[in-house]
Amino acid sequence: EVRVRFAPSPTGFLHLGGLRTALYNYLYAKKYGGKFILRMEDTDQNRLVPGAAGAIEDMLEWAGIPPDESPRRGGGSGPYLQSQRLAHYSQAADTLVQSGKAYRCFCSQQRLELLKREPLVSMGICPHIYDNRCRHLRPAQVQEKLGQGVPHVIRFKLESGAEPFHDLVFGWNRHEVAQVEGDPVVIKADGFPTYHLANVVDDHMMGVSHVLRGSEWLISTSKHLLLYRALGWKPPVFGHLPLLLNRDGSKLSKRQGDIYIQSFQKGGALPEALLDIITHCGSGFNSNRIGRRMEDLISEFNPANITTHSALLDLDKLPEFNRIHLKQCIDDPEQRGPLVGVLQGWIQEVYGTQVQEQDVLNAEYIARVLDLRKGHISSLSELVAPEYSYLWVRPSFSDQQVAVLRSVPEAKHIATLVVKLMEDRAVGEDLSVDSISVELKTLAKKTMNTKYRDVMKTIRLALSGLQQGPSVSEMMVSLGPSEVTHRFNRVLE
Ligand code: GLU
Repeated sequence: EVRVRFAPSPTGFLHLGGLRTALYNYLYAKKYGGKFILRMEDTDQNRLVPGAAGAIEDMLEWAGIPPDESPRRGGGSGPYLQSQRLAHYSQAADTLVQSGKAYRCFCSQQRLELLKREPLVSMGICPHIYDNRCRHLRPAQVQEKLGQGVPHVIRFKLESGAEPFHDLVFGWNRHEVAQVEGDPVVIKADGFPTYHLANVVDDHMMGVSHVLRGSEWLISTSKHLLLYRALGWKPPVFGHLPLLLNRDGSKLSKRQGDIYIQSFQKGGALPEALLDIITHCGSGFNSNRIGRRMEDLISEFNPANITTHSALLDLDKLPEFNRIHLKQCIDDPEQRGPLVGVLQGWIQEVYGTQVQEQDVLNAEYIARVLDLRKGHISSLSELVAPEYSYLWVRPSFSDQQVAVLRSVPEAKHIATLVVKLMEDRAVGEDLSVDSISVELKTLAKKTMNTKYRDVMKTIRLALSGLQQGPSVSEMMVSLGPSEVTHRFNRVLE
């Protein structure tokens, strides 16, 4: 059975790199009929950010990649917070100590600091690494120190002879960790495990079959495999995902400033667009078609296509992704209603009681506006910006606008023609942009001294108070005959 996991540390909120790791795990699970697990690696008690764990899970839900098992949802392999699994880690560490594969280390902080500084290179020992001194303590010495209550950690004996492993993305790999590292701590002095032990214990106990994680962990994998061997456990398959960078190769946080998913959400990004754009970095997909939705992502995802080079993300294209996805959402019968609801709320918020007279909060009216504007706007929020206020409130004309209207000699004549045009429509007949534009051309021929362009300008101004915007025929269709008539009657007065 395929079981994959996303294992963030709640030391911060979910960012784009994390979302990509979560997404690829999700896709892997869905593609192969497996389960996607969310596990919180909250063992670094000093770096915990309050609220981060819940917020990460919220963002996965928002993005549309909810875990099957998680701290919030529970599941058969819980608990899913490492801080609630301490007994498992100490049990594993005890097993290692008893079988002589790990040992208690009583070295003081001070000694470890000194080790980092001393010029040990001449003695054949790399600086910055632990010299494994406590490996050689005799049992009696250990008992004595334990009796004295000397604080200690547990270290894993790194053996040489790490075996090569096959990484799904990077191919064959092997890191002789014992040559470059001292024995790693697996249980800290506060009794909490380090990442390396907790990760191995949990992946084993949670039945994780495939570990898909950031490539920064590739060099630690040999160490993890040594732990699996020492514990007598079968390791999962590993696949390391290349780094996610800006298009110019800089770190994401450097250029973008705010790479947290919450800020994309606040900025009006659609989750569909965000997921799609992070798969457009040449990794794991054959095509570069914009507009892939979840079912396309699942069917087109091919882990064998994940490249080893860094994934370059072009966030300048996000509005374009958003525009295309927004259109697809509007066309999706399941998403249409909720989008109408969101816009309804915003209109009320932004325009308050001004809107009531026109019944613009009517779902049908809003849906018609969405249909006409889809493909043009890249965010729903654009529709409550001033340039679209004419849709929700009747324009109040400035002196300047009144002057412009008056300067058209035939303004009243044009108004009469438009009102007539609207009256001639059968009641309840749907207007179409195409038929209205044909009729507007005919209408313009009936004016004597005004050119087509100026007729349009006049109508646009009377309807919206604007000099530019969507086509006049679209404006008429979205407002509907009776509102158009109402607005023109004011010009006639
Ligand atoms: N807690 C680690 C991180 O946030 C998880 C690495 C892993 O997936 O093994 O990067």
